[in-house]
Amino acid sequence: MHESLDPELARELNEKPLPPPVVPIFDIHMHSASPQATAAYVRAARKYGVVGAVNMTFGGMASALREHFGDFFVPCGWPIWQHGKEEPPDWDWFGQEWVDGLTEKVHAGMRFIKTKLVPRPDGPTPIWLDDPRLAAMFAQCEALRLPVQVHAAQPDRWWRSKLKADMCGPKSAYLDQVERVMRNHPRLRVLSVHMGSSPEDLKYLARLMETYPNYHIDTSATKWTVRELSAKPAESRAFFIDHAERICFGSDLVVQEGAPDSYYTSRFHVQRTMWETGVRGRSMIRDPDADPDGPYLNGLALPADVLTRLYRDNARRLLAEVAVEAVSKS
Ligand SMILES: [Zn+2]
Repeated sequence: MHESLDPELARELNEKPLPPPVVPIFDIHMHSASPQATAAYVRAARKYGVVGAVNMTFGGMASALREHFGDFFVPCGWPIWQHGKEEPPDWDWFGQEWVDGLTEKVHAGMRFIKTKLVPRPDGPTPIWLDDPRLAAMFAQCEALRLPVQVHAAQPDRWWRSKLKADMCGPKSAYLDQVERVMRNHPRLRVLSVHMGSSPEDLKYLARLMETYPNYHIDTSATKWTVRELSAKPAESRAFFIDHAERICFGSDLVVQEGAPDSYYTSRFHVQRTMWETGVRGRSMIRDPDADPDGPYLNGLALPADVLTRLYRDNARRLLAEVAVEAVSKS
């Protein structure tokens, strides 16, 4: 469901977008729908200086989007998912498709894979990221230098409200699965989305950054990220500066049929305001998880060289290093 903004504000976001960013922005994490619906995302993105995106789709839909939007979207395959009560896949099929078939998929343009292993509403994830049955796929990703997006956990506040820890286990169990995979696969390049699922605890993220040189995070899930970082802007600013090499801009915008342009423009506006300005104020995006007097937006006023890496360089490096040459020779 998309929320509606005040019509006057929505018009303003559309007609008077922010001035161009310091460098063109690449959105490392979004979800498309049909080309017709996705056009609203692309329109809003271009207005706010976003010139390309990694899209959580691969195959037929990726080809249809290519016809409409050229090379705007970079495809990301999604071999491991966890939605509702879905069970893990048939493992023979999985091996053929995502171990033996991985090289071919990279050859066909796939530049990322995505995994989502968060709690089900009524119990734990049916498979953990370090399950031995997934190890061959991650080994293959290491060889191809194919980066992996990981959605590991949900906001701390959900563990206190929407989720039942006695049924799904503690949040730390979900975060730890990422660390075990990085230990098992030291060359695997990981992008842990939604600020590593832990914008609440930057000391934890700093420890991972310092321990695992291939660990990256993105800024996606605008409400969650802005809410938690705005609660501690000085600490957040220092964290972004210290780890500027490994934080990527991401929206996690999910294209929805019929959503107004302001659904997209508001996310770009709020994130850019968060990174580029030192504003002390409120976010225009309604946040049911915020404190009653929120949601706040307290900007980080990041230096230009940090923004350059956040907006463009880190994503460029992650995507450029995929071993396409090795793939085409194989
Ligand atoms: Zn996502």
